[in-house]
Amino acid sequence: MKKDIHPEIKDCKVTCACGNTFTCKSTKEEINVEICSECHPFYTGKQSRATRAGRVDKFNKKYGFDKKENA
Ligand SMILES: [Zn+2]
Repeated sequence: MKKDIHPEIKDCKVTCACGNTFTCKSTKEEINVEICSECHPFYTGKQSRATRAGRVDKFNKKYGFDKKENA
Protein backbone atom coordinates (compact mmCIF):
# COMPACT_ATOMS: atom_id res chain seq x y z
CA MET A 1 0.00 0.00 0.00
CA LYS A 2 1.18 3.49 -0.74
CA LYS A 3 1.88 5.83 2.09
CA ASP A 4 0.29 9.24 2.55
CA ILE A 5 -2.78 8.55 0.45
CA HIS A 6 -4.77 6.90 3.22
CA PRO A 7 -6.82 8.89 5.70
CA GLU A 8 -5.64 8.86 9.26
CA ILE A 9 -7.44 6.28 11.38
CA LYS A 10 -7.92 7.28 14.97
CA ASP A 11 -9.85 6.16 18.00
CA CYS A 12 -13.38 7.41 17.53
CA LYS A 13 -15.80 8.03 20.36
CA VAL A 14 -19.27 6.92 19.34
CA THR A 15 -22.14 8.36 21.33
CA CYS A 16 -25.57 6.81 21.02
CA ALA A 17 -28.92 8.45 21.66
CA CYS A 18 -29.49 5.93 24.46
CA GLY A 19 -26.49 7.28 26.33
CA ASN A 20 -24.19 4.40 25.53
CA THR A 21 -20.71 5.27 24.39
CA PHE A 22 -18.02 3.13 22.92
CA THR A 23 -14.94 3.55 20.82
CA CYS A 24 -14.02 2.31 17.41
CA LYS A 25 -11.60 3.18 14.68
CA SER A 26 -12.56 5.92 12.28
CA THR A 27 -11.26 8.91 10.43
CA LYS A 28 -13.53 11.02 12.62
CA GLU A 29 -12.94 11.67 16.29
CA GLU A 30 -16.57 11.60 17.29
CA ILE A 31 -19.72 10.07 15.86
CA ASN A 32 -23.27 10.40 17.11
CA VAL A 33 -25.65 7.56 16.36
CA GLU A 34 -29.34 7.02 17.06
CA ILE A 35 -29.14 3.33 17.68
CA CYS A 36 -26.44 0.96 18.87
CA SER A 37 -26.05 -2.66 19.84
CA GLU A 38 -26.98 -1.77 23.41
CA CYS A 39 -30.38 -0.38 22.59
CA HIS A 40 -31.41 -1.90 19.27
CA PRO A 41 -34.34 -4.28 19.79
CA PHE A 42 -32.64 -6.83 17.58
CA TYR A 43 -29.84 -7.19 20.10
CA THR A 44 -31.74 -6.50 23.31
CA GLY A 45 -34.76 -8.58 22.40
CA LYS A 46 -37.09 -5.97 23.77
CA GLN A 47 -38.40 -2.56 23.00
CA SER A 48 -36.16 0.14 24.32
CA ARG A 49 -36.68 3.58 25.70
CA ALA A 50 -34.31 4.78 23.03
CA THR A 51 -36.41 3.43 20.20
CA ARG A 52 -37.68 6.40 18.30
CA ALA A 53 -40.54 6.63 15.93
CA GLY A 54 -39.25 7.30 12.47
CA ARG A 55 -36.34 5.57 10.91
CA VAL A 56 -36.61 2.42 12.97
CA ASP A 57 -40.34 2.16 12.38
CA LYS A 58 -39.80 2.60 8.68
CA PHE A 59 -37.17 -0.11 8.71
CA ASN A 60 -39.41 -2.46 10.67
CA LYS A 61 -42.34 -1.88 8.35
CA LYS A 62 -40.22 -2.22 5.25
CA TYR A 63 -38.98 -5.63 6.33
CA GLY A 64 -42.17 -6.70 8.07
CA PHE A 65 -40.64 -6.85 11.56
CA ASP A 66 -43.69 -5.16 13.02
CA LYS A 67 -45.83 -8.15 12.15
CA LYS A 68 -46.24 -10.79 14.80
CA GLU A 69 -45.74 -13.75 12.50
CA ASN A 70 -42.28 -12.55 11.60
CA ALA A 71 -41.25 -11.74 15.13
ZN1 LIG B 1 -27.82 2.88 21.93
